[in-house]
Order: sequence, then structure tokens, then C-alpha cells
Amino acid sequence: MNLALVMQQGPNPFKIITNILTSPILKLAGELLLLLIIILWLSLVYWTFADASRRGAIRFLWALVALVFPFVGTLIYLIVRPPEYALDARERELELAVLERELRSRVLLCPNCRAMVEKDYIICPECNWQLKKPCANCEKPLDLNWKTCPYCGVDQRSGKINW
Ligand SMILES: [Zn+2]
Ligand SMILES: [Zn+2]
Repeated sequence: MNLALVMQQGPNPFKIITNILTSPILKLAGELLLLLIIILWLSLVYWTFADASRRGAIRFLWALVALVFPFVGTLIYLIVRPPEYALDARERELELAVLERELRSRVLLCPNCRAMVEKDYIICPECNWQLKKPCANCEKPLDLNWKTCPYCGVDQRSGKINW
């Protein structure tokens, strides 16, 4: 069947295509697609900015590149961005944990009134809560549940040296 015959028989195919292309639904769909692309582009600009600042790159420059060259700019950034070594992140995490523990071991709180106390306090100065007990022999402050003084080795109940 040749084309000329088809065109003679049915409605003009070019007119159908033109009608579809100019229909309001297609126009709306096209506008929505454009809007989505713009939103995606701006999100990528923001992502590039955030990622660059996290990795210590020149964030304003990279955000500008991503803005001026939609999509391609971010792609280039992805290729040349400085790597964030997993080891660095792990190390930072460990450092934080150590700092936190140090802080916690230095700042002691009274379990009763939450006042700050020193580790050798026997009584909380704010509420008189018993924090430690003095060793029966050397009078160093001991935890209430310690059975033997770690400073002089004296058993707290029998009063005898435990070694
Ligand atoms: Zn207290
Ligand atoms: Zn002792």
C-alpha cells in the first residue's frame, strides 16, 4: 500500500499530529515536565553546594558551575570532587567518642540532686546524699559497693588486708 493512497483514504495524518501537538493537555504536560526539570536542576545546585561544603571544596564555585551548566555541572563536580575517606569519618567518630567519655568522667553529678560533685566527695554538698564511703583504714573515698580499698588493700568488712 503506498502512502499516497493512505492519505487519500483517511484523514490527513499530518493534521492529526498537529492537533495532538497543539492540544492543551499536551501543552500542560510539557509545562509540568519543564517545571520538574527546573526543580531537579535547582535541587542539584543545592546538593552540589551542600556536598562541596561537607568535603571542604569551594562550595560557591561548584554551586555556580551547577547553576550555569544544568546537570552537566553537577556531573563534572561528581567526577572531580574530593573524596571523603571512610577512614577519616571513622576516626572523627572515635575522637568524638573519646571526648564524650572524657567529659563524662570529669563531670560527675550527684545521683540525687544532679549537682556537680568531685570524684572524691563523700557527701553531696547540696543535698547531703552519700556519694562515697571513707576507707576504714586509709580514709580514701571509696565507691559504696567496693568491698576492698584499692588504695591500701584493706577489706572494708573484716578490716584485714586482703593480699
Ligand atoms: Zn546532691
Ligand atoms: Zn584504704
